Amino acid sequence: MSTISSYALVIFGASGDLTRRKLLPALFNLDCAGKLPKAFRVIGVARTAMDSATWQRQAAEAIADLGDDAQRAAFSKRLVYMPADYSSVADCNRLYDLLYNCDDCFESQGKVLFHLAVPATVSEAIVHALGKSRFAPQGRMVGNHAILVEKPFGTDLDSAVAMRKLLMDTFEEEEIYRIDHYLAKDTVRNLVVFRFCNAMFEPLWNRNYIENVQITVHEKLGIEERGEYYDQSGVLRDMIQNHVLQVLALIAMEPPIAADAESIRDKKNEVFRSLRPLFPGDWVLGQYDGYRQADGVNPDSTTPTYAALRVHVDNWRWFGVPFYLRSGKALTDKLTEVVIVFRTIPLCVLDDPNSCASVQRNVLRLRLQPQEGIHLSFNVQKPGIANEGIDTARLHFNYDEVGQITHESYARVVLDAMLGKPGLFWRSDSIETAWEFIAPALADEKNAPPEGYPNYQPGSNGPASAAKLPQQAGHNWY
Ligand code: NDP
Repeated sequence: MSTISSYALVIFGASGDLTRRKLLPALFNLDCAGKLPKAFRVIGVARTAMDSATWQRQAAEAIADLGDDAQRAAFSKRLVYMPADYSSVADCNRLYDLLYNCDDCFESQGKVLFHLAVPATVSEAIVHALGKSRFAPQGRMVGNHAILVEKPFGTDLDSAVAMRKLLMDTFEEEEIYRIDHYLAKDTVRNLVVFRFCNAMFEPLWNRNYIENVQITVHEKLGIEERGEYYDQSGVLRDMIQNHVLQVLALIAMEPPIAADAESIRDKKNEVFRSLRPLFPGDWVLGQYDGYRQADGVNPDSTTPTYAALRVHVDNWRWFGVPFYLRSGKALTDKLTEVVIVFRTIPLCVLDDPNSCASVQRNVLRLRLQPQEGIHLSFNVQKPGIANEGIDTARLHFNYDEVGQITHESYARVVLDAMLGKPGLFWRSDSIETAWEFIAPALADEKNAPPEGYPNYQPGSNGPASAAKLPQQAGHNWY
């Protein structure tokens, strides 16, 4: 944190799950790694009545398995709690005083990052109150203030537009950080390096050599304790509109002119703008058996827990190449992967028809999690005296060959927001284009598929009908 001498992170929703499970451990790890400035405070704000000592004890439990006693004690001193009503301007003014009008308080040249770690329905009230408080004398933030927003960024195009307007009434676009922690994963950041720091793949990375692209984000767990949230959201809002489309954009985008945030976000936005509108038949939705019985879920719910989509990027590079996307809960395995299926050879020159028949397409697997790595399959001559035919061999790279995957995506996004680096965050134009794109499938959510819900068993690969999407073009899921 080279240029900032004092810093405050204000967490709205400090009593919640995200704060406990992700934010506090991430901040603690940053502290231990020496990435936080000396004068760094975390102000926890929420309705729950408690004092700072109680919140510090809660925090100690959240980081109990990390660091040592001295590090935990030092971190605890950074934490202050303020009970507040989220819509109260008076409470925002109390927060202002806590930050700026106290002994030993915050230096006026310091920076404040507001983190909305609350359900989306509550965020609006907070931004309204901040905009009317002393933080924003003319209705707009003055000084060094930024805001960190958790997904979902709205629930559809209209609500996303309303949220953008609300945020931009008070904050400048460059002060708004919309988190997609997927973008901070080591393996997702590597997509840019893999594509643009290796000369051998990029010439093949187009419609001439690639037959189809498959992006899979499968979870083994069901909705667990998050029934109420999930039933309002569903897989299209929870995964496809954000994480999956971001991965698609990193795979499909043109080379950026530089690695700065705007150059990359511009190129990703071009991908979103090139997406061919979806039509019925381009998606399959599913719901697992047992979902409707989960706590917090409507017993007649038509919220999908699985979605598979066929998507086209209509530009010169990708025209005619289907991108198959799928994501769901309660599936066989936890798996996030991009599979690039190359076109088959134009002509088999071998004189043995059986060998020609066993030539397989080259397949490149970018395994994002778990068992992070990269695998490339190719055809080889089977060894032997007679003509033994052709076999498929694989080149494997596992991430542990170059270091340990950190799983510190929250730490990375919070640090980048503090440092004013927007590269790992969504830009509002892309969010809205993504909502517009997904709208036809969202509109179909209320209709169960012809076979009815539930249409897949927990521990399976999802609805059988999902196989039809690639099959219609003679392709298979890999
Ligand atoms: P919680 O449901 O735990 O809510 C956080 C806090 O917000 C609660 O402790 C509560 O504090 C307050 N709150 C909750 N519901 C209401 C309400 N209806 N009205 C007013 N206040 C309310 O949410 P999470 O911590 O799980 O998530 C926070 C945000 O982060 C959400 O937008 C979520 O989508 C996002 N997110 C969460 C992830 C996670 O793993 N939990 C992962 C990725 C994103 P109090 O009552 O004390 O005011």
